[in-house]
Amino acid sequence: MPVPGGVAVVPLGTASQAPQATYGDQRVMVIQDSDGQWIAVVGIPLGTAPGRQSLLVQGGTAATFQVRAKEYAAQHIKLKNRRQVSPDPEDLKRIKRELDLQLAAYRTYRDGVVPSNVMLDRPVDGRLSSPFGLRRFFNGEERNPHSGLDFAVPSGTPVKAPAAGRVVLVGDYFFNGKTVFVDHGQGFISMFCHLSAIDVKPGDEVARGAVVGKVGATGRATGPHLHWNISLNAVRVDPAIFIGAARRP
Ligand code: ZN
Repeated sequence: MPVPGGVAVVPLGTASQAPQATYGDQRVMVIQDSDGQWIAVVGIPLGTAPGRQSLLVQGGTAATFQVRAKEYAAQHIKLKNRRQVSPDPEDLKRIKRELDLQLAAYRTYRDGVVPSNVMLDRPVDGRLSSPFGLRRFFNGEERNPHSGLDFAVPSGTPVKAPAAGRVVLVGDYFFNGKTVFVDHGQGFISMFCHLSAIDVKPGDEVARGAVVGKVGATGRATGPHLHWNISLNAVRVDPAIFIGAARRP
């Protein structure tokens, strides 16, 4: 059964055309399985309460799925830069501006573009360090949970697109540092952050395996690593699900 921060796979029937489905106010990914059945692939927000959730499906037929509870572990991080824990008023303005840009990128939905495969390649070869969903405390203060998956790899390691896509946003942000967003289609979006270099620009089409940047430690990072987010219907979900590395709770 799906969990907060996970993915629900919801059957939508065998209509000749792909049904349109929304969850909250966001279109969701709809793909077809080998038997011709349409399937919604839905990202479930971390804050979702256990119980029944509904999709709104074009034509009025509702589809539902059940979510069960999941406990995520806590992580304590020491930062020397106090501004990264308690940003000053100027920083807060910058953070808000940058957050708006990034949230808009996550809301990208390219109709009709069906990702060739929802299984993704690893963007780098390396040990998985911090998993998705950790409840994080910076210098003892609770902040947002870990929204992605970290790989322990040296600075300069090339970061490869885990599937084909289009670059929708690049920037150098207060928390995320040098960052690249790649839209894989139908709201399926990868974000890479803390990069030392960015090798693409918005509008670039990238092939699976193309280099989009290099690993670094820019932004709020205690050392070089790759932080990789995956978003579906504008909801951050566990990237481990898509590389076959999800651990059963
Ligand atoms: Zn991270």
